[in-house]
Amino acid sequence: MIIGIDLGTTNSLVAVWKDGKSQLVPNGLGETLTPSCVSLDADGSILVGKAARERLQTHPERTAAVFKRYMGSDKKVRLGEREFRAEELSAFVLKSLKADAEAFLGKAVTEAVITVPAYFSDAQRKATRTAGLLAGLTVDRLLNEPSAAALAYGMHQLDSESRFLVFDLGGGTFDVSILELFEGVMEVRASAGDNFLGGEDVTNAIVDLFFQRNTLSSSLRNNAMFMQRLGASAEAAKRSLSTGQQATVQIQLDGNDLSMEIDEEALDKLCAPLLKRMREPVERALRDTNIRANELDSIVLAGGATRMPVIKRLVTLMFGRFPTSDINPDEVVAMGAAVQAGLKMKDAALEEVVMTDVAPYSLGIEVSIKLADGKDAIGHFSPVIERNSAVPVSRVKRYFPMDARQRVVELRIYQGESRLVKDNIPLGKLDVNLPAGNDIDSKGVDVRFTYDVNGLLEVRATLVESKDSQVLVIQGNPGMLSDAEVAQRFAELEKIKMHPRDTMEMRTLLARADRIYQQVRGDLRNWLGQQIAEFEAVLETQNPRHISAAKTRFSEVLASIESDSHLHSDFDPQPN
Ligand code: AMP
Repeated sequence: MIIGIDLGTTNSLVAVWKDGKSQLVPNGLGETLTPSCVSLDADGSILVGKAARERLQTHPERTAAVFKRYMGSDKKVRLGEREFRAEELSAFVLKSLKADAEAFLGKAVTEAVITVPAYFSDAQRKATRTAGLLAGLTVDRLLNEPSAAALAYGMHQLDSESRFLVFDLGGGTFDVSILELFEGVMEVRASAGDNFLGGEDVTNAIVDLFFQRNTLSSSLRNNAMFMQRLGASAEAAKRSLSTGQQATVQIQLDGNDLSMEIDEEALDKLCAPLLKRMREPVERALRDTNIRANELDSIVLAGGATRMPVIKRLVTLMFGRFPTSDINPDEVVAMGAAVQAGLKMKDAALEEVVMTDVAPYSLGIEVSIKLADGKDAIGHFSPVIERNSAVPVSRVKRYFPMDARQRVVELRIYQGESRLVKDNIPLGKLDVNLPAGNDIDSKGVDVRFTYDVNGLLEVRATLVESKDSQVLVIQGNPGMLSDAEVAQRFAELEKIKMHPRDTMEMRTLLARADRIYQQVRGDLRNWLGQQIAEFEAVLETQNPRHISAAKTRFSEVLASIESDSHLHSDFDPQPN
């Protein structure tokens, strides 16, 4: 069985293709959004989702969030006494989603289609596949998030020829893609975006404003617990401004109440610089496809942050029409991933649809350019595959060494759109041995770049004259795990227990109670401590009837404390 997974910066979702349609899978709490948070519990087991998110405040040193940002790097995140890479933290989230899907389907799941931002680099894509492997999932297919969104919508419009633009603003990334549907073939014509722009930036801007308005010292930013709580309050205010006109950000500091009123207008002002940054990728995607805004049939919204009215207004203004958002923007990517999973399982209903994708950035090598005065200008970028070429794509270009006596050329591989390689992203380096002698004509090298549907790049160099195809290995990817390392880490992760799914609801309630306990003071705090101890005692009886009654009562207690004390029951993590 293949499942579709949206492995998000803030939240992750799993969906399956069942009974001829995409269906979202609920987690152990009965919810479809699982926060992409991981925490190491006191007993050494791993908590994923809401319970982990609660612990961002109470146990920040044992909890991780927003690790999608570190995919493809070798950065390690410490949880208690252990350290994990982003792939491993993602693997815990995937394991948890896999268990949810297995519970929902009543059968084993071995494979997944996982979505990634269109702008993910080669290293980030490979890391995503590794995360799948570490979770015991084969990942044959990575799907670009906007393509997934389009696929979710495309299913309703199979007969018509149409072009649409997907405007995807998530927690941490912004992607714009232009897609074309023609005779059952859906083609991604262009994609552009920004890997460091999302709803979190809005929350961070609210936090900054709070610091300003309350003239707080910047040293407070080192106080992880304070920052988590302020982030939570800012997040809640941002969300309530999506439906209301006024919100309050509130937090206690050393026994004093600090607060800030924020209204729609102030939020719009905070968003202005972010909105400006959204224009460029949209213009670039339109330019690359030679499509004018008025030639688009629809604008599809994806990503939780497109719920903000200011974003909807921007999109309406940019394109002169209202965007489509029939499918919940938080869920559309996962729904599309499940469509792709269904396609892969060759479900008859879907056989008609073919997906093609594009390479989202140009890929090439460093070259020197001969100037008119005979001097060499070094450090130039020579693209082999141009951005927005349909994939799979294989392109070859012939290069000669600068000097006829040269015995080796170093091919330095980059991705990006800048003229000079220093402004692009280095991907690796290959050394190619050239034949002896001083005849430059014998030293031509055909450099072939092959970029597959998963966004993985292979570079191969062949000597033109001898036809010797030197087998070349891309070097210098410090962030990447080797196969042996993956196998070793897989074995290590297998030893770490995941918190059992069936008791997750109770564990989440207790994590929430702990968080509230730390936030309140005085008599209320003592009383809550008593309630927690009693609830724990009931859990120990293992009597289902008593537990069920106690759970209802305990949830009501927590809800009433939260509503009385302006605490926020729901929040998203902020990057450290
Ligand atoms: P995603 O990565 O698609 O899950 O999007 C998550 C982002 O959407 C986060 O930055 C959330 O703060 C934001 N978000 C979710 N719901 C809302 C809402 N109702 N109003 C404003 N932003 C939201």
